[in-house]
Amino acid sequence: MNRTDTTAACPCGRLDARRKPQTYERCCGRYIDHWEAQPAPDAEALMRSRYTAFTRENAAYLLATWHGSQRPQTPDFEPATKWLGLEVRAFQPAGEDTATVEFVARYRLAGRAVRLHERSRFVRENGRWYYVDGEQF
Ligand SMILES: [Zn+2]
Repeated sequence: MNRTDTTAACPCGRLDARRKPQTYERCCGRYIDHWEAQPAPDAEALMRSRYTAFTRENAAYLLATWHGSQRPQTPDFEPATKWLGLEVRAFQPAGEDTATVEFVARYRLAGRAVRLHERSRFVRENGRWYYVDGEQF
């Protein structure tokens, strides 16, 4: 997708109530482009928006939503990655301020298909959700 086209289908693949793809601006773009005013309301929305930020190589958003205890200096973008899609398998709130999201992300790297299956941990601090770390399968 064109990086500036906010009316195209959101890379995270979320569907609206009528099973139509949500546009970027109505889906992850609401959080990615307005992080200060409108943080992702739950761990699944944050996870989806971080996937979308990866596809758009938005380092600022990824770092802003990475918990300080685990945050790298810079996110790792493989230059030739072609993101193919995201499937959220499970979203499990665990109390008020912690949650896990299990997902499969697919991409192509140098012609090779890669499947990333991870259960990510999230925490909420001062009303904002953060990605902590993940366990890969
Ligand atoms: Zn989205």
